[in-house]
Amino acid sequence: MDFMPSPDIAIGNEITTDVLIAGGGNAALCAAITAARNGASVLVVEKAPKAWRGGNTRHTRNMRVAHDEANGTLTGPYPVEEFWNDLERVTKGNTDVDLAMMTLEKSKELWDFLWAQGVRFQPSLGGTLSLGRTNAFFLGGGRSMLNALYQTAEDLGVTVLYDTELTDVAMEEGYFTGATVRTADGERTVKARGFVAAAGGFEANIDWLEEAWGPAARNFLIRGTPYNTGSVLRLLMDKGFAPVGDPKQCHAVAIDGRAPKFDGGIVTRLDCVPFGIVVNADGERFYDEGEDFWPKRYAIWGRLVAAQPDQVGYVLIDSKSINSFMPSVYPPEKADTLEALSRTIGVDPAKVAETVAAFNAACTGGTFDHTVHDDCRTEGLTPPKSHWARPIDTPPYYAYSLRPGITFTYLGIRIDAHGRMLMNDGKPAPNMFAAGEIMAGNILGEGYLAGIGMTIGSVFGRIAGHGVSSYVRN
Ligand SMILES: Cc1cc2nc3c(=O)[nH]c(=O)nc-3n(C[C@H](O)[C@H](O)[C@H](O)COP(=O)(O)OP(=O)(O)OC[C@H]3O[C@@H](n4cnc5c(N)ncnc54)[C@H](O)[C@@H]3O)c2cc1C
Repeated sequence: MDFMPSPDIAIGNEITTDVLIAGGGNAALCAAITAARNGASVLVVEKAPKAWRGGNTRHTRNMRVAHDEANGTLTGPYPVEEFWNDLERVTKGNTDVDLAMMTLEKSKELWDFLWAQGVRFQPSLGGTLSLGRTNAFFLGGGRSMLNALYQTAEDLGVTVLYDTELTDVAMEEGYFTGATVRTADGERTVKARGFVAAAGGFEANIDWLEEAWGPAARNFLIRGTPYNTGSVLRLLMDKGFAPVGDPKQCHAVAIDGRAPKFDGGIVTRLDCVPFGIVVNADGERFYDEGEDFWPKRYAIWGRLVAAQPDQVGYVLIDSKSINSFMPSVYPPEKADTLEALSRTIGVDPAKVAETVAAFNAACTGGTFDHTVHDDCRTEGLTPPKSHWARPIDTPPYYAYSLRPGITFTYLGIRIDAHGRMLMNDGKPAPNMFAAGEIMAGNILGEGYLAGIGMTIGSVFGRIAGHGVSSYVRN
């Protein structure tokens, strides 16, 4: 295509473009590229500075895609039907079946689409993730993937304004007519013929999280960008767009309690839970640490820890286990006695001693094997530890703190199969579309399937980009 129009950003205060896209992550860029390839002039406004562009997409590693045969990186077929079974299981059927099936069907196209935009993939990681057949891993991770998308978008004439926040949208008789954006130099008006909301969820808005979770939310850590405050989501809901999903549903995991408040990313993940016990601030165990392999269960620990006093937990292990899991980014607390360790983490030593003694006495023995559901379990203990239960008795002793880490929220705007946002009366806004976290709740009513966040963003980014550019061309 040789026609590559660009938005007019120079004249006066008002910016004119065919398509305005709010956000700067995977969903926004997939929409921008698709719309630009379809002949539309596209303006992307990204709230973050350039160095922090790309929201939560920066932190990602992989994307789940259906495919009918192995392709050198993906190790085997992953048919849509199997993908659907996996999704139905984790969401417990709490998903829009038509939209979900369409997403999985269209995920088949993503490999070729992304490759054509310059995104490259690497052989899947082995070890604890075991996603080699189902998930495509980005070579260089999410940042590298984003860099390729930005490069392609800019080559196609897409204009990106950084440090620019969408603050309002103008509508007339149900049609989008323009928007207000806040730049470093003050407010500007954008006149556009179509709009795509791709501005993420509200996970970085602690006040909003508190509305859903109560005061406990103050102690949550936000694994991703501080820029996803849900301001566009709130704006659209206030304008009469239909919400979908429950504000309390989200992807939440337990992460190292010393992680920064925002943007800690994946390195703050801890893999040691199955190798020890987890106690709360009162020194009590509260869940079966050996229920299943950590990657399968780790998404439940965010909620578990969130429900504990002070929203904190401590993994206690001994020297037998310290080299059995992926090394952590922060060193553990270490002491020669359990009493000294308890004092270091600030939990009553007498209570810790009692909890560990009860656990040790309940361990049945067996053959420890962390690669299978082994026969090392507890007997007569509540809660039980079903596998990998070995007495904690060999100094030095170690402790890691755990806190709830919120990955992303599911409350979003309801959409139709064309990616158009639906008003409260069920009617679609003809030239207003949504993609990514801001509509993920249509597919993810609850639960999570590793890599599907990026799938949803790319599939609906493409749908929205196609829809909005087709609208403006007609
Ligand atoms: C640590 C971590 C690891 C993850 N790993 C994976 C993984 O491996 N695979 C996977 O599928 N998913 C993963 N996810 C989830 C995944 O990141 C999201 O599902 C996906 O990035 C969502 O894409 P998006 O484009 O909707 O949002 P984002 O990538 O978050 O982009 C939203 C953008 O909107 C911008 N924005 C917000 N408000 C405004 C406004 N008012 N005006 C303008 N711009 C605004 C933000 O600055 C941001 O750039 C991970 C998330 C985290 C936090």
